[in-house]
Amino acid sequence: MWGIIATWRMAVEGISKASEMLEDSQSSGDAIEEAIKAVEDFPFYKSVGYGGLPNEEMEVELDAAFMDGTTFDMGAVGAIKDFANPISIARRLSKEKVNNLLVGEGAEKFAHKEGFERKNMLTDRAKIHYKNRVKEVAELEIKPYSGHDTVGMVCLDTKGDMCAATSTSGLFMKKKGRVGDSPICGSGFYVDSNIGGASATGLGEDLMKGCISYEIVRLMKEGKHPQEACDIAVNALNEELVKRRGKAGDLSLIAMNNEGEWGVATNIDGFSFAVSTSKLEKPIVYLTKNVNGKNIHEVATQEWLDNYMKTRMAPLKEN
Ligand code: ASP
Repeated sequence: MWGIIATWRMAVEGISKASEMLEDSQSSGDAIEEAIKAVEDFPFYKSVGYGGLPNEEMEVELDAAFMDGTTFDMGAVGAIKDFANPISIARRLSKEKVNNLLVGEGAEKFAHKEGFERKNMLTDRAKIHYKNRVKEVAELEIKPYSGHDTVGMVCLDTKGDMCAATSTSGLFMKKKGRVGDSPICGSGFYVDSNIGGASATGLGEDLMKGCISYEIVRLMKEGKHPQEACDIAVNALNEELVKRRGKAGDLSLIAMNNEGEWGVATNIDGFSFAVSTSKLEKPIVYLTKNVNGKNIHEVATQEWLDNYMKTRMAPLKEN
């Protein structure tokens, strides 16, 4: 038995690659790294890796994390600039005894010393998005922070070893140095091969308030199915945030247990995710919505899938 689940439609090509590796009995660590790299490398996904949207100073600062659910090795980078694959740097850091989470210049120094590929991660397309947003913010007085989507994954291999990983450019127009939930163990991701794992996407500032990935794994440890664990944790955090602060930011979570059973919950409409297991013929993309506390998953239609790529790759003009 093997399985992999990931946030957002953008992960599906990556998890297809990972599925072949898992079918071939390769490790969950290798498979998840390949899957995340595929998302990081694709220039038209504007929230992860190359082509990711910049901070308010027009710099692309990236966060990523890797966790091994068997050894509990954990590594992460925050606000790292100009490296092609933050996930690989995070995985490399997970092998260290200390200094597992490095940010900014320190992370870049480490990556340089270790010979990771340097790359200018700011694409012309991302620059146009940036310039358009600056104009919109000035003219329409809208909030700058919209546009984010982390790729987060949980993976189980045929030996029963599990891994979790994340990669993101965080919030569009964030302050320089801002780090979200994605590289924070327990919030953006958590995995224990004896139980299962979870990963988050949404407003990092709110996801962190619930240590939400750890909470889902904790609920699975109590015997809850991943779907039930996701439902309980996401609904509870959403309610607490509304009660205490008047509103909740976007919260979307994926989870898989060590039997390859999975669950997904969200507080937004139309959260997409992708899943592949040894029981399925090919990876499936679903769309989820939360109806009165119950999360309903529907397989994405071909029309939706076609439209997704078309809009991602549509020509972009400066306003
Ligand atoms: N959670 C990410 C962050 O706050 C963004 C996202 O998942 O969309 O940095």
